Amino acid sequence: MVVVSPLPRLVIDLDKIRYNAQILTALARQRGVEVMGVTKVTCAHPDAARALVAGGVSKLADSRLSNLARLRELNLGIPLYLLRLPGPSQAAEVVAVADGSLNSEPATLQALSQAAVAAGRRHKVVLMVDLGDLREGLWPDQVLETARWAAGLPGLELEGLGTNLTCYGGVIPTVENLGRLIELQRRVEAVVERPLPVLSGGNSSSLQMLLAGRLPAGVTQLRLGEGIMLGRETVARQPIPGAHLDAFRLEAEVLEVKEKPSVPIGEIGQDAFGGTPVFTDRGIHRRAICGLGRQDADLGGLVPVHRGVEVLGGSSDHLLLDVTRADPPVAVGDVLPFVPGYGALLAAMTSPYVAKVLR
Ligand SMILES: *Cc1c(COP(=O)(O)O)cnc(C)c1O
Repeated sequence: MVVVSPLPRLVIDLDKIRYNAQILTALARQRGVEVMGVTKVTCAHPDAARALVAGGVSKLADSRLSNLARLRELNLGIPLYLLRLPGPSQAAEVVAVADGSLNSEPATLQALSQAAVAAGRRHKVVLMVDLGDLREGLWPDQVLETARWAAGLPGLELEGLGTNLTCYGGVIPTVENLGRLIELQRRVEAVVERPLPVLSGGNSSSLQMLLAGRLPAGVTQLRLGEGIMLGRETVARQPIPGAHLDAFRLEAEVLEVKEKPSVPIGEIGQDAFGGTPVFTDRGIHRRAICGLGRQDADLGGLVPVHRGVEVLGGSSDHLLLDVTRADPPVAVGDVLPFVPGYGALLAAMTSPYVAKVLR
């Protein structure tokens, strides 16, 4: 009996993930930088996490406590970190499932310290600094005072400073803004009277600098998710030399193929999501419908692998394609592969409608 996994499905190539992790950890190591492997885009899939560890990452991190709890069960032998700022209500759970966390709020640090003391542990803390991206982090003028105070909390071990860029504001890491972080770290070290082991210099958007050999000395850590999983840096989404760009493939079945006009017939109101659609007239063309929709993935972020196939759009359960120039031609029942972008991968991993298949 041939066992065929249901469609749509996300095919995960663990060897490619491991290989990408190897390339990046090796490159980082040459510059004295450790890689924290970020599992959140895979919802902390156990095999993907193992592939990261096999590829040489020295720590793992996720933004969700439930994901970290599952990673903890795997006994992977490396420290686990919480990426998203915890809230005070989560302190006991954070201390139980994570070895460390990224933080910016005194009330939460206080709660974490108490929870750690109660559990007989020391919880590692990276203090986040906002260098202008306007997501999490202390404003630079508050860093010294907060760091001095946090270093004195009995349940905590201050590891150093960190920053997150190119997430909300799209601010690009540079020699200047990372240089400011390094300078702040020196001042914190002077105040707490010991060297701090960690300067966490950002996410996959810092890879551009690593690749160009411009990552400032003093950065000791990068937190990498997308760069490893999809093989691209995230400032311009340029491929990382040698990395696999298709460790993940979304596959969907063709349900209909018909010649139709490209502009709807009739008066145009709102679409299923409340938007007012705009159409380009391509004349009569060959359209295909795949069984893949917005409940499964972010359709805008899909790159068709089949030559000549173009994504037109979609709705909750349907992906519409122009297959006029498909080579070879596309027929009903064909299974078409797509390489997902970050949003599409995140949604596909999260969607219960998408089967996950390991390769
Ligand atoms: C998601 C996240 C990362 C990883 O980002 P990538 O762009 O996937 O490398 C790093 N740090 C924090 C705080 C994050 O939330």
